[in-house]
Parts: sequence; structure tokens; C-alpha cells
Amino acid sequence: MTRTLWSPELMTGRPAGAPGLLRNFVGGEFVAGDKTFAKVSPVTGETIFEVAEAGAGTVDAAVDAARRALGGPWGRMGEQERAGVLRRIADELERRFDDLVAAEVADTGKSISQARTLDIPRGAANFRAFAEIAATAPTESFTTATAGGGRALNYAVRKPVGVVAIIVPWNLPLLLLTWKVAPALACGNAVIVKPSEETPSSATLLAEIMAAVGVPDGVFNLVHGFGPASAGEFLTRHPGVDAITFTGESATGATIMRAAAGGVKAVSFELGGKNAGLVFADADLDAAVAGSVRSSFTNGGQVCLCTERLYVQRPIFDEFAARLAKRAGELAFGWPSDEATANMPLISREHRDKVLGYYDLARAEGATVLAGGGVPAFGDARDGGAYVQPTVLTGLGQDARTNREEIFGPVCHLAPFDDEDEAYALANDSEYGLAATVWTRDVGRAHRAGARLDAGIVWVNTWFLRDLRTPFGGVKASGVGREGGVHSLDFYSELTNVCVDLS
Ligand code: NAD
Repeated sequence: MTRTLWSPELMTGRPAGAPGLLRNFVGGEFVAGDKTFAKVSPVTGETIFEVAEAGAGTVDAAVDAARRALGGPWGRMGEQERAGVLRRIADELERRFDDLVAAEVADTGKSISQARTLDIPRGAANFRAFAEIAATAPTESFTTATAGGGRALNYAVRKPVGVVAIIVPWNLPLLLLTWKVAPALACGNAVIVKPSEETPSSATLLAEIMAAVGVPDGVFNLVHGFGPASAGEFLTRHPGVDAITFTGESATGATIMRAAAGGVKAVSFELGGKNAGLVFADADLDAAVAGSVRSSFTNGGQVCLCTERLYVQRPIFDEFAARLAKRAGELAFGWPSDEATANMPLISREHRDKVLGYYDLARAEGATVLAGGGVPAFGDARDGGAYVQPTVLTGLGQDARTNREEIFGPVCHLAPFDDEDEAYALANDSEYGLAATVWTRDVGRAHRAGARLDAGIVWVNTWFLRDLRTPFGGVKASGVGREGGVHSLDFYSELTNVCVDLS
């Protein structure tokens, strides 16, 4: 079995074995930053790259390059032509499929099978989908009576917003990045992307892909670094940035909103969740157990849409709990390169400390641990990584911090409910409102759940099934605005209404 999934020389020109330097991409050139920081493997704890951190000067240069690009050929391109560019990016992304898989696996420790079937294909799909959506989006027109008895024609023209800052997290790096880059480019903007400091690799490969397909210099810029007093903050405070789209923690969203307020910039936020799953007694129990294993433990529980609170109708509570706990304990720990691997490490030791802190807190709050609750022992290099056991808890009340705060790890808490009203009340009793999942065979209840759950996404008898044309976002502390389909176009473009007196 091989542990080496990633060759640093791909992006750095340095020989494998020596940690390479991942660089920023500004105005069509790879450039070093002011400082460097180490990217550590979550699988083994070894340093796998040095990364060039963009300081204020590099961010200034990226904004200048983006502004210049808007005034060049990119700014004059029609939507069909831009759609062609997006399709070429998707083609090149598919050609670099194995490199991207390797990059994503190296940065996150996720299983190679997940990277192959979800993360990287969705990266290409985002470009293909938004090529179509932007090129076929309808525009509005109305006629209006004039004072002189004639008519005036109104029609709306879509224009790019300008320079868009795109700041994304580490959990699904390429998928979440391209979900924003694709519509932003489809609408004719120039972008500056800042991937998470934990996942610099696939974004750097995306810069290579942009250069390879001839995206004009300055249209796609990449700055590496952290949030506060680093590339993230420099970008969100920059007067040359017109709009900010961000995916990450709700608290970070609040900080970015304050930074954007001075410039009255448009923001789109996809934030945290404390998602509920409701399992009704009439559900297909096999499907509900299998679906809840997926919704709680996929990607190490590090998906904003993961279920951390499961409410189960009382007649089936004990059986459901026993079956879920058994399945959680059976999820395979393997190297990321093994197709059969189900678990993955958390992104870092720091994040592992946070998640283990919640396992301890849950016990202190009086939880019963039905599965997991600790750290697996491997007896090999993975003991230097950031693994935790998938964990199933029960016995806590609604007000326990374990049931209120986003943990962002492979953990769920089970609680019983008696009737449908109670189920919705428990699910809605949260500061967050991103996603909810409902397991039932009652078709009327399926539709009632959609209407009564305070969440941006309600899944019935499924989870994480996404059509890229549908609206995506959260209510309450889970987000501001919607992206997806034409909703993305509404954020990444400005509409100018033109009114022409026809008399
Ligand atoms: P995070 O908020 O710590 O970081 C996200 C990004 O913001 C990173 O690139 C980081 O460097 C940057 N950043 C941090 N502080 C900043 C600042 N002050 N100014 C500018 N940039 C700053 O989030 P994370 O730990 O990387 O990701 C996990 C979080 O993301 C979870 O809360 C999860 O629910 C959320 N998330 C939400 C969605 C969604 O679609 N709603 C999707 C994935 C993840």
C-alpha cells in the first residue's frame, strides 16, 4: 500500500521528498509571498508543503491585476464566449483529475474514493453547470405607459459586479471553491480567491488550469494565508474589492461583515450549521439508519450539512440507536489510498483538540456514549495524525452546549420525540438553520416538513443530493443570501434597467 499520493513537484518545480513551496497566483504569474507557513498532513502530522503567505502588498497586486483584467478583453467578452471558457476549464480539470485527487487527499486525508466520486467531479460539474445557466438565463422586459399616451420599453441588462473576493474553508476545498469561481467568471467578474490555510493545493492546481486554458491574466488570482492580520483580512478590507463571497464559520462571517460594512460591499455567506435529522416511526428503518450514518459521518462529519442532532420517534428509538451505534463502530479506518476507507482524520490537531473537547464536555454534561468517544490507535504513522472515533451520544437535553454548538466532527446526539409538532419544535430550537433531514413514508408529512422546518435545505428520505440549479444557503446564523442556479447570477452580477421611450 502506498502512502505517497501527491507529488509536490507538480506545482513547485522541486523534487519530490523536499517539501515544495506552493505560491500565490497574481496577474497570471506564480509569485512567492512575504513569509511562508507549513502545511501539515492530517494523516501523519508531517509537513508536506511550505506555502507562500500573501501579505498586504501581494493582495494589493492581486486587486490591481483583477481591476486591469476587467478593463481588458475579458470585460468585452460576451456571455457565450465566457461559457466556452468555463467549458474549457472543466475539460482541463478533468484532464488533471488524478493530480487534483492527489492534492485533495494530501491536504485533507479524505479517502481517495470520495475525492474521485465527489470532490473532483463536482469541481468540473460546477464549471459545466454555470456555463449553461449563465448563457441561458432569461432577462426581464416590461412595457410601461408614458404620460403622452405612448409606451416605454424596460429591459434589464446583466453586468459583472467587478472584483469578487472568494474565501473558502477546508472541508470540501475544490468543490466549494469552484461553486463560487464558476458563476463569478460566468458573469464576467475577476476574482481573488483565498483557500483555507489548511488546503492550499487544489486551489494552486486550479490556477495552473486557468493559465493552461488561456483565461486572461488577472481574471483569476490566488492568495494564500490565514484570516486575521493576513490575506483574508487584507482582502475583505480592501477598497478595490466590490463583493465578498464567503463560506466558513458563522463567527468569521460576522467579522467579515464588519470589514465589508465600511465599503458597503455586497456579501454572500454560507455559514455553520447544527443540523437536525428527524426519524419518524413509519420510516424505512434500513434507509434511515444508512442515511443517518452518511449524514453524520461523511467526510469525518466535516460537512456543513452533516447531522449533529438526531431526533427519533419513541417507538423505534432504542432499535435505531443500537443500529446506528453499531454501524458507527464498524466504519473502516484505513489509509486514504484504500478504496474501502470510510473514516478520515480531522483537518488538524488543533481541530481535533476542539472536537475531543466536545466529547469531554458531552460526558461532563451527562451524556451516555453509545459509540466512539475517543481516539483510535493505529500503531503506525497515523498515530501522528488527527483522527477521532465516530461518536454517538444520547441522554442530553436541548440546552446542553453539545446540542447547541457546531462541533464539526463525526458525532451526533440522539434524543426521542413523541409527535410531529414536537419534532419540528426540537429541530427548529437552534441558532442555526442550514439543513434538515426527514425520514418518513408519509407523503403529506414530507411536504409539511418542508414548510415547517427553519432551514435553507430540507431533505426527505435522502441527504446531500444536490442539483446545482437549486437555491443553496441557510437561515438564521447559517447564512446570508442564496447561491445556486440563477440565484448565483443574482449575486455575481448587477442588473441595470434600461427604459426607452418608444414614442
Ligand atoms: P473558518 O471560518 O475558520 O475559515 C474559513 C475561511 O475564512 C478560511 O479561508 C480562513 O482563512 C478565512 N478566515 C478566517 N478568519 C478570517 C477573517 N477574519 N477575515 C477573512 N478571512 C478569514 O472556517 P473553517 O474552519 O475553515 O471551516 C469550517 C466552517 O465552515 C464550519 O463552521 C462549517 O459549517 C462552515 N461551512 C459552511 C458551509 C456552507 O455552505 N454553509 C460549507 C462548508 C463549511
